[in-house]
Amino acid sequence: MNILILGSGGREHALAWAIRQNPKCDRLFVAPGNAGMEPLARLADLDILSGPAVIGFCEENAIDLVVIGPEAPLAAGVADELRAAGILAFGPSRAAAMLEASKAFTKEICDACDAPTAAWARFDAAEPARAYIRAQGAPIVVKADGLAAGKGVTVAMTEAEAVAAIDDAFGGAFGAAGAEVVVEEFMAGEEASFFVLCDGVDCLPIGTAQDHKRVGEGDTGPNTGGMGAYSPAPVLTAEIQEQVMAEIVRPTVAEMARRGTPFQGVLYAGLMIRDGRARLVEYNVRFGDPECQVLMMRLGAQALDLILACAEGRLGTASVNWADDHALTVVLAARGYPGAYEKGSAIRGLDALAEDSFRMVFHAGTARRDGRIVATGGRVLAATGRGVTLAEAHARAYALADAIDWPEGFCRRDIGWRAL
Ligand code: AMP
Repeated sequence: MNILILGSGGREHALAWAIRQNPKCDRLFVAPGNAGMEPLARLADLDILSGPAVIGFCEENAIDLVVIGPEAPLAAGVADELRAAGILAFGPSRAAAMLEASKAFTKEICDACDAPTAAWARFDAAEPARAYIRAQGAPIVVKADGLAAGKGVTVAMTEAEAVAAIDDAFGGAFGAAGAEVVVEEFMAGEEASFFVLCDGVDCLPIGTAQDHKRVGEGDTGPNTGGMGAYSPAPVLTAEIQEQVMAEIVRPTVAEMARRGTPFQGVLYAGLMIRDGRARLVEYNVRFGDPECQVLMMRLGAQALDLILACAEGRLGTASVNWADDHALTVVLAARGYPGAYEKGSAIRGLDALAEDSFRMVFHAGTARRDGRIVATGGRVLAATGRGVTLAEAHARAYALADAIDWPEGFCRRDIGWRAL
């Protein structure tokens, strides 16, 4: 098969790495990709938000499957356009991607199928929202309804903070994403992520993970896109996974099908676990980054078989061949991230790394300039290890991170502390 992956981050490098290992993969393209993917795939310069551009590329290059990595092309309806053109695509339709694009939509789905989640209310004006907050009291959570690049959520410990978040949202701080606001109950507990492939009808869990969102050690400092992750997440026991499938994921998938907007792709459930039970925090409709790196490290070549079964509606008879393993990834970011940082610094030592199915450095923000690899983003590399134990995976990931010569970068030294 000829395969095209859309995206350019560590997530897409990990997808390319796993897919390339499968003998079904003939030619592999990534658009736009990054320097780390050059040994695996041809990089294509393509507007991935444009359905006609992606379809044109597929026709020119006899592409049999398009794997859509990031959220933006899904929200733009690229999966719909590909399927309408008869091209196999992995990823939800624009209508099904609403599970990520609108917090209120997800809450309505949860209510319709009785899935456990935080109590909530939606507002399109500030005054009733303020009154609701005063009535409920703090702690309380304020969310811009739409996609706000991860910045639209305020977990407010005081009423004043919550009211300030309401004023921000209706003052235009999140643009159109904040025209509607969801205010919800604060849920205490431990967070974890659960990844399930769905083909519109059937669902297949493909792993659990926990990530580290804060930039600083001990989970302190500002939020980031994610500074590291590990899989599996010990807090998501087999019993809780079964509860999540029975009470949250399968009912959601059934409700989406009932509405005529079946969900096909990876459903990423953000969960809050307390007293042996999970409640839904949010859905994403694509793999997480860096969670994808640890999932792909564990799935390896079979990732392509699972993605194909998903895109072709065959998940009912598919299964995962699990190894008894763990994976951990540590993100190397540019100094200053998530604030201002320099671009263009050289990264050395990458060519000398011994990489195999237990150790891989996935590139997130790199480019090749004059034969050298340079940093082009905030999160730049994800050093990933796999092992029989989490401690072994951790040791391998940090051995890779420490072998990379990049004085302008930094990483957290405590990824996985909770599980270790
Ligand atoms: P979201 O974008 O909905 O995932 O929210 C971002 C983060 O805010 C989550 O990963 C949680 O850490 C936190 N959060 C969101 N909703 C709640 C809630 N109802 N209770 C506690 N924390 C929450």
